[in-house]
Amino acid sequence: MRSFLSIKTFIIVFLIFTVNISFAQKYDILIKGGHLIDPKNRIDQKMDIAIIGGKIAKVTSQIPENSAKKVVQADGMYITPGLIDMHAHVFWGVKPDSYISNSYTSLPPDGFTFRAGITTIVDAGSAGWRNIRIFEEQTVQQSKTRVLAFINIVGAGMKGGALEQNLLDMDPKLTAMVAKKYKDFVVGIKLAHYSGPEWIPLQRTVEAGVIADMPVMIDFGGNDPELSLKRLFLEELRPGDIFTHCFAHVKGRTAIVDDNGKVRPFVWDAYNRGIVFDVGHGGGSFRFDQAIPALEQGFRPNSISTDLHTGSMNGAMKDIVNIMSKFLNMGMTLSEVINGVTWHPAQYIQHEELGHLTVGAVADIAVLKLENGQFGFNDISGKKIEGNQKLQCELTLRDGKIVWDLNGISMPRWEKSAGSK
Ligand SMILES: [Zn+2]
Repeated sequence: MRSFLSIKTFIIVFLIFTVNISFAQKYDILIKGGHLIDPKNRIDQKMDIAIIGGKIAKVTSQIPENSAKKVVQADGMYITPGLIDMHAHVFWGVKPDSYISNSYTSLPPDGFTFRAGITTIVDAGSAGWRNIRIFEEQTVQQSKTRVLAFINIVGAGMKGGALEQNLLDMDPKLTAMVAKKYKDFVVGIKLAHYSGPEWIPLQRTVEAGVIADMPVMIDFGGNDPELSLKRLFLEELRPGDIFTHCFAHVKGRTAIVDDNGKVRPFVWDAYNRGIVFDVGHGGGSFRFDQAIPALEQGFRPNSISTDLHTGSMNGAMKDIVNIMSKFLNMGMTLSEVINGVTWHPAQYIQHEELGHLTVGAVADIAVLKLENGQFGFNDISGKKIEGNQKLQCELTLRDGKIVWDLNGISMPRWEKSAGSK
């Protein structure tokens, strides 16, 4: 009798143990039936993807539904790495007369990222070495979105007006020192808005980049008199440095496409030596009369970014999927467009753990739908194109958690859950 009991007990314990094991191995979320685009891993085909513990657990053509606690049906949709917006302004705050640096023109990231598939947003120089700590406390630590930043060469940051013209507040050593101190979220050095005739601000920015071993991002615009774009590309910047607002045409800056609609020869040289061409759409930096001829001649922007702030989001920019849709309708392939918001920017900001769906990587994922119909897309000069393709973001996962679900594709129908809370 005793031995019978012990055998019975053994069997029960064994069963509980194995059931527990199989339960523990269940995936948290399985996204099924979608077309997966992962440029880093050269995947562009139908694939299922499973997540466990906030990480990518499996990517293969068939993963059974009963292996996951939650199944999302993504038939007809595209599954991509969570989008990286490499140029935005998210140093929101209430300081008067401070433009985009701890003030009203910047936006709190979470309200504008997940709904557009963005899981990593990079602030482009809103803060300088004097106020990056406030940026960390107010924005980085308060956001579910992963927030990274270029630190401005101007110590006060992007406060607009005379403060951004102050050569005495552009210190490469202090900027690099603080950049390195906050290297868990600072990815590079930013120069913007300098309107004087000197090369000094640019050279100090690059010097800070050299000391900190980080890339620089350059908003080169409005110098009076104009500075040589060719010299910037071929003599001043290093390969891997980023030229943002590449399709702008503003007074005081040479455009990359000349008056005859030709991409300037030295732009190709710059491209070939590894200068990164970033879109940085913004409220004044994207024109079809630059982008369309450039694309027709085979030029491709390396990265697609928003330059998000209150001045751009209600204009032609709108959000990152709208910009991606513009480039699709101008002739870029979906895979090129996805690369420009995932694996490419991850490499430029030296965060190669991001921007792909390798097993073991953080489960930052966007599920996009490509709508067919008749759509219009605007530029900052008040011109438009028509197009028949438009992306929208259906679902966003950050760290394996669903943070945006446009049409409830991750949810059961209400009748099935009647009575439950
Ligand atoms: Zn900007």
